[in-house]
Amino acid sequence: MWYRNAWPLNLSNNTTNRMETVISKQNERMHADDKNVCKLCMSELGEIYMDLGLSLDELDLLAMPRRSFTVHFPARMDSGKVKMFVGHRIQYNDARGPTKGGIRFHPELTIDHVRDLAFLMVLKCAVVNIPFGGSKGGVVVNPKELSSSELEQVTRAYIRSIGNYIGPFKDIPAPDVYTDEQIMVWILDEFERIKGEHVPAIVTGKPFELQGIKARSYSTSLGGIYVLEEAMRKMGMQASEAGVAVQGFGHVGRNAASILYEKGYKIIAVSDSGGGIINGEGLDIREVMKHKDVTGSVMDFKGSKNITNEELLTCECDILIPAALSDQLTKDNAHAVQATIILELANAPTTTDADEIFFDKKMMLIPDVLANAGGVVVSFFEWSQNLNNDSWEESRVLQKLRDIMITSFNDVYVLCHEGSCRMRRAAYQLAVKRILHAERLRGNL
Ligand code: NAD
Repeated sequence: MWYRNAWPLNLSNNTTNRMETVISKQNERMHADDKNVCKLCMSELGEIYMDLGLSLDELDLLAMPRRSFTVHFPARMDSGKVKMFVGHRIQYNDARGPTKGGIRFHPELTIDHVRDLAFLMVLKCAVVNIPFGGSKGGVVVNPKELSSSELEQVTRAYIRSIGNYIGPFKDIPAPDVYTDEQIMVWILDEFERIKGEHVPAIVTGKPFELQGIKARSYSTSLGGIYVLEEAMRKMGMQASEAGVAVQGFGHVGRNAASILYEKGYKIIAVSDSGGGIINGEGLDIREVMKHKDVTGSVMDFKGSKNITNEELLTCECDILIPAALSDQLTKDNAHAVQATIILELANAPTTTDADEIFFDKKMMLIPDVLANAGGVVVSFFEWSQNLNNDSWEESRVLQKLRDIMITSFNDVYVLCHEGSCRMRRAAYQLAVKRILHAERLRGNL
């Protein structure tokens, strides 16, 4: 079995090395730097296997994906020649509902990595208790080397190859690394051509004009902020007194900094791949955004001091938001981190040993599987809206997002206190219990 070497402890060195090689080749725009995700997943689940006293049958059921597809398909290039491509799709577990997960276009995509990410989606959907299983997929391609029409041909050909295995009640794709709204439209259109009817719920992340949903673009950041505010309430912290440092000024980090700034938080430090800036009195985030748009970097912003990314992570702040890469908080810098709350908007920014150090220091770390789940929650709303031929007001989206995020936070928080364990461990326990309960109800255990 593929997982026997990995379970219940860590992935084999070979797998780890391969993932690291893959990621080191990524350039900055390969934003979802998630090489550490499943290393972390596996080591946490190894412990949960013991905490919950799982049987080997339960472990086997969790450890194997239900369906894995590898497809080889031709797509016509601008030269007129046909080129063969490889695509994957893994539907990891669908006990709680149809599988849901992104489509990634990446030259180094492997079936192993797709499987790891699909498993993470299963856990994430279970933590926030939405009626989805988890999946992931993609095409082995560097989209930067294709023209727009070639990208369209590849997308459509991939969907023709897997078209019989996806659907609004089977498996629902979404954007991921190097795939965007336009690609979601091609997926929608190709699927509808195959079926000969409109099926908007086949894919999420669509433009609003084609039955997408309001607020999706900032839902990951806002979902995390709802959770953060609930945590602050529990700790008696006030927004006006909280200094925030945000690592990463891309899609997620920028939205998070901007929303918090507008809510009256003092954003004292932000960074991007070039480095960071700090001003203990607070940065004007609207101006920082303009500066970044003009210069391409947050560095050298007037009235602030340039710092390194390492300095940002250990600066004097109340709330630290890693929103860039994985593996940023490690045993080497964890002791120097000064924040009271760490909100993981990036995937796997903290290693397990750093997580344990934060727990010992009585800091609250809100794990990725909960903190950044707002995106998939709003995808669930988009899917529901499409199935009902409905169009939700933005206020309704935000209210329901808030309800789900706060309920999920409290579900995890209670378990965390009952078991005196780290929040990540509690979140995984909750997810595993929910998945196995669904399997039991179905008679699969
Ligand atoms: P993005 O590419 O838009 O932004 C990444 C940011 O990180 C950029 O500002 C980049 O300059 C910065 N960066 C790169 N290297 C850095 C370094 N060494 N130090 C500091 N900053 C660095 O990506 P994104 O969509 O904002 O995703 C960020 C993280 O959030 C990823 O871990 C991703 O997997 C996770 N995430 C994103 C979503 C989403 O909805 N986009 C959902 C869940 C999780």
